[in-house]
Amino acid sequence: MEFDWTLTGKGIWLICLIAWAGIRWVPNRRARKVAVARTSRTPSERFSMAMSTAGLGIVPGIWVFAGWPSSLDFAPLPALIVAGAVLFAVSLRMFRITHKALGAMWSHSLDLRENHKLVTTGIYEKVRHPMYTAFWLWALAQTLLLSNWLAAFAGVVGFGTLFFLRIGQEERMMEERFGQQYRDYCARTKRLVPGLY
Ligand code: SAH
Repeated sequence: MEFDWTLTGKGIWLICLIAWAGIRWVPNRRARKVAVARTSRTPSERFSMAMSTAGLGIVPGIWVFAGWPSSLDFAPLPALIVAGAVLFAVSLRMFRITHKALGAMWSHSLDLRENHKLVTTGIYEKVRHPMYTAFWLWALAQTLLLSNWLAAFAGVVGFGTLFFLRIGQEERMMEERFGQQYRDYCARTKRLVPGLY
């Protein structure tokens, strides 16, 4: 029997998705106990969350489990699948680090907690949005792991929508809350990649 790289890519994607849910499990339960002082869950924010969930989870999930839309399948390239696995592993490591650093200040939407603290140390000393860097790496890994044009690129479109609609709102929210402290933080850091963007 020939080695099935398409199935391998699907399997790695699924295992990483489950691992990611595991990484979030405890922080999610802890953070929910800390009251939200202010939330900015606008209609645009809700749309962003739906796009991101669809692109990184639902659309590829349908292809992985049901094979739809098979007309958009393509032949897998082993080297790309291996690269995708490595990228996803790096992404998961970054999720772990960012969750540890943010602790109860984390939320999956735009919320400020009671006594919200601005985190500027550890990985947050290098860039302002390392968790979004981790999501971009996931989206990129997905393009390499899944041998179907729709499933592969849904993540970039879905998370890209969330990122570009949210990033300005998030930074405005943080600036309103933390003022000069946040402006100084912005002046010495980039958003996603040190020295670049
Ligand atoms: N944009 C960050 C965090 C994503 S989670 C990242 O990519 O790593 C989103 C929540 O994190 C927002 O509701 C905001 O309240 C909080 N947040 C974002 N940056 C923060 C920081 N530097 N310190 C504390 N909380 C932060």
